[in-house]
Amino acid sequence: MSEPKRLFFAIELPDETRQAIVRWRAEHFAGDAGRPVAAANLHLTLAFLGEVSAEKRKALEAMAGRITQPGFNLHLDDAGQWLRSRVVWLGCRQSPRGLIQLADMLRAQAARSGCYQSPTPFHPHISLLRETPHAVALPAPGFNWSFAVTEFVLYESQFTGGRLRYTALNRWTLKT
Ligand code: ATP
Ligand code: MG
Repeated sequence: MSEPKRLFFAIELPDETRQAIVRWRAEHFAGDAGRPVAAANLHLTLAFLGEVSAEKRKALEAMAGRITQPGFNLHLDDAGQWLRSRVVWLGCRQSPRGLIQLADMLRAQAARSGCYQSPTPFHPHISLLRETPHAVALPAPGFNWSFAVTEFVLYESQFTGGRLRYTALNRWTLKT
């Protein structure tokens, strides 16, 4: 039997968007503002699953494969800070319906399979800084990053060699 894995479904960001975000972050936040999320790790979580056995993962993948959602555009035009979870994030002022539907579906499937489900409502966001020690001045979002979401990804989260790594295990295309 293989060990359970720490899994989550998420949207991968295009390389150019990740690079633009990292540049914007470096321009606007000082070194003491928090722990910057590595460029390679910037993502938007759809459903966090926790520790999942190989058997349960198979069932989740089969259900994910039956999703027939259309793709959608993500327009990042909002930034904020959650003082309690100590995160600075990027998001959308108005989340596209396709994003909410996709996350709802994945979260419902996970709940049905007995996976961990966050008790908090879904607030789509991309974490930029973690462990922010104090409130930061948030720059007015002068950015206008949009990209087409054409797939969703199942990631494994691992902390190895002193580094957090996300590995894409599987991906599914959204309908065009
Ligand atoms: P770290 O925990 O080392 O700060 P991380 O939070 O990015 O890094 P994970 O804890 O493995 O790494 O989480 C993977 C993704 O799932 C992240 O987007 C994280 O915000 C989200 N996540 C983690 N735990 C939960 C939870 N209990 N409820 C909802 N989402 C979660
Ligand atoms: Mg975490």
